Amino acid sequence: MIEAIGFTILGFVLMEISGWAIHKYLMHGPLWMIHKTHHKHSDSFLELNDLFSLLFGSVAVLLIFLGIGKLDYRFWLGIGISLYGLLYFLLHDILIHRRIKWLDRPKSSFLQGIFKAHQAHHYSDKKDDAVSFGLFLVPKKYFKTKDR
Ligand SMILES: [Zn+2]
Ligand SMILES: [Zn+2]
Repeated sequence: MIEAIGFTILGFVLMEISGWAIHKYLMHGPLWMIHKTHHKHSDSFLELNDLFSLLFGSVAVLLIFLGIGKLDYRFWLGIGISLYGLLYFLLHDILIHRRIKWLDRPKSSFLQGIFKAHQAHHYSDKKDDAVSFGLFLVPKKYFKTKDR
């Protein structure tokens, strides 16, 4: 039980940390050609950048597949990564970018902070001068003021 909870949380936390690093150093680096489709406006529903979600999703599915027989650490890491992916999709793709128009602007100061931090990431559509690369790992200043 403790293993299940521990590795689920670890999978979740590792996704935010590695996601932050991959976004900052690879997506805004050598993989900018793919990631820029998320920074430039386009009318199509899918972006080439969605390949990254597909890649992370495949890692989760693979881990769950490898660990499901024994319900070992791989299974729970896969569950943690999947939960992160689900939350990322809800917050980043639906709440912030409104790719599906389900949710209105958030009212809680925590969600407003996440929202503002990611908007700040999108102020620039350039490879080199972007800020705040995580979903949760963002500068604290965005959480200071609450809009009404
Ligand atoms: Zn970016
Ligand atoms: Zn975005």
